[in-house]
Amino acid sequence: MDPSPLFYQAGPALPEVSHAQGVYLWDENGRQYLDGCSGAISCNLGHGRDDIREAMLAQLDRVAFTYRTQFENAPAVALAKTLVGITQHQLEKVFFVSSGSEAVESALKLARQYFVVRGEPQCRRFVSLRPSYHGSTLGALGVTGYQPLEAPFRDIAIGSLKVAGPDFYRHDDADDNRHVARVLANTRAAIEAAGPDTIAAFVLEPVGGASTGARMLDRSYLTDIRALCDEFGCLLILDEVLTGIGRTGAWFAYQHYGVTPDLLSTAKGLGAGYYPVGAVLSRADIVETVMASGGFQHGHTYAGNPLACATGLAVVEAIERDKVLDNVVARGRQLAAGLEALKARFPWIGDVRGLGLLWGVELVADAATKAPFPAEQNRFARITALAREEGLLIYPRRTLDGMAGDHFLITPPLTIDAADTAELLTRLERAMQRFDRELAAATPM
Ligand code: PMP
Repeated sequence: MDPSPLFYQAGPALPEVSHAQGVYLWDENGRQYLDGCSGAISCNLGHGRDDIREAMLAQLDRVAFTYRTQFENAPAVALAKTLVGITQHQLEKVFFVSSGSEAVESALKLARQYFVVRGEPQCRRFVSLRPSYHGSTLGALGVTGYQPLEAPFRDIAIGSLKVAGPDFYRHDDADDNRHVARVLANTRAAIEAAGPDTIAAFVLEPVGGASTGARMLDRSYLTDIRALCDEFGCLLILDEVLTGIGRTGAWFAYQHYGVTPDLLSTAKGLGAGYYPVGAVLSRADIVETVMASGGFQHGHTYAGNPLACATGLAVVEAIERDKVLDNVVARGRQLAAGLEALKARFPWIGDVRGLGLLWGVELVADAATKAPFPAEQNRFARITALAREEGLLIYPRRTLDGMAGDHFLITPPLTIDAADTAELLTRLERAMQRFDRELAAATPM
């Protein structure tokens, strides 16, 4: 076989995909895989949907691309109105983009320009969590707390203050409330030391994604971060690139907590894998301030093109019409129960956490001490390979940033049914049995 010119990752060559339908994919050799992670938590409605295809074809037949400063287009306006409606008009302005990184980058720049226009150019820094993932462009990377991705670029990325968020699995405080109180006190102290008047925005994922294995925040933490932002006069940006558009069982994860951001980034599930589309949603007055100064000095060529927005609109309509959020809640319960049962069986499953159809499983060498596996053993890669051999795709990581351990995400399409959820758990169990046997064989008697 010719070597591939593509260089996405170090590692063995990948099989070529042949086709996909529903929650299943097939490779060129006829092997079938259950998509337990929706690709990159993006194919949220499964593969091969006729309704999305029809909407895209209809738009292609009218016009695929127009540039946002030359024409308004009906799907863009309709999708923007729908998104604003989902926020109950708390976020009233929408700026479309084509990826999650662009959505975060755009939110950071909007926040920055807002302060410049207001005559507060000293507000130029961002606060974010370690660990976290916000994207791979330099601005989004600047607020990302994930060592391997940051390391080569640390010197040239934008400055960001990284603080620890709550860790309900590993903390050794007397209880969760005291843990949250301590985390918040440390955050306040870090911001005060850095200079609150230099901060433009606090950026965070309301439920962690790949970098943390679905680490949860909670209502009291988010409420207090909201209050801290208000006290210090900085904006709250929620990165809902992964959690948005139904992944957690609400349209946006913030809606579980009753905490409203000033800016919100979303992407992945909005195009549901059918076309790249993302968005920044903003409080109206922020946008009005920036627009009064002559406009937002930012934009991407493909932003908000008719085909992208027609796809996003078809996705959102399908979620509404098919009551997909109800399915997320029901299947989420089934998945959680199955994962908890596996945790009770295998001592190396340290933690199972999540919401809706966003679940993280953390692996530990010792359940009592929560000690991680040695990094060089690459356990996250091994369990992923075993799952793949059993016909199941999962989304793995190893995180070192103030949180130890191998973990993986289980994030099937939001449309998965009960039988396929059971099948997912069966395949995962088979992979785990093999993983367990390998661990036993490696442990000296
Ligand atoms: N933010 C979060 C929370 C994400 O999970 C991701 C993607 N994993 C991004 C930003 C970046 O999105 P993209 O890969 O589409 O640029």
